[in-house]
Amino acid sequence: MTDGAPRVLVVEDEASILLGLRMNLEREGCVVGGAEDGEAGLRRAREEDWDLIVLDLMLPKSNGYEVLCTLRAEHDRTPVLVLSARSAEVDKIMGLNLGADDYVTKPFSVAELLARVRALLRRRNHPGEPLWSFGDVEADPTTREVRRAGSPITLTPTEFDVLAALLRASPRVLSREQIMDAVWGPIHHGTVRSVDNFIVQLRAKLEDDPAHPRHLLTVRGAGYRLVR
Ligand code: CA
Repeated sequence: MTDGAPRVLVVEDEASILLGLRMNLEREGCVVGGAEDGEAGLRRAREEDWDLIVLDLMLPKSNGYEVLCTLRAEHDRTPVLVLSARSAEVDKIMGLNLGADDYVTKPFSVAELLARVRALLRRRNHPGEPLWSFGDVEADPTTREVRRAGSPITLTPTEFDVLAALLRASPRVLSREQIMDAVWGPIHHGTVRSVDNFIVQLRAKLEDDPAHPRHLLTVRGAGYRLVR
């Protein structure tokens, strides 16, 4: 994370798509790195600092699922935007909870992809915000670190952003649509069900009894709210 030009790694084996993304992202002011297979992508993801990784799923050597799983298993929380050829793959990657932050299905429009990239990059730094807390949980909006009873808790970038939206709004209720707008920006393809999934994951990580939450509450017919 730097204040300078955002650094974006594009892992894509189709040369024309890689070239097109590189040109468009550079025009947006990004520093762009490329990798044409999963092994090279994983290596560059590990060895260099990135603000965002654009990751194709179908790749030679090691596929995008494996790259994403490996990074998240290593607690690399760099935001990942998945490129997918079919919506069935998207269902799989979101359903498997592999830690992707957003996705675009091919063929995608450049404008749509750039909007997603900007939304993910906007999350980079919001300095100067005080520490948030509820129950025995503390969250630092600047470093994005979360602790529970003093012990670090690993949240995916999107889990953190859903939590942050609820914390900023607390004690107000947010509808699923408002949460989606806050996390993914006004242009998104997420379904309200994906918000529900992130809430389930957050409860599992942050609530004593996830089946009977005390902080991350469902407001029937309205949405969710966070009670401190
Ligand atoms: Ca491919």
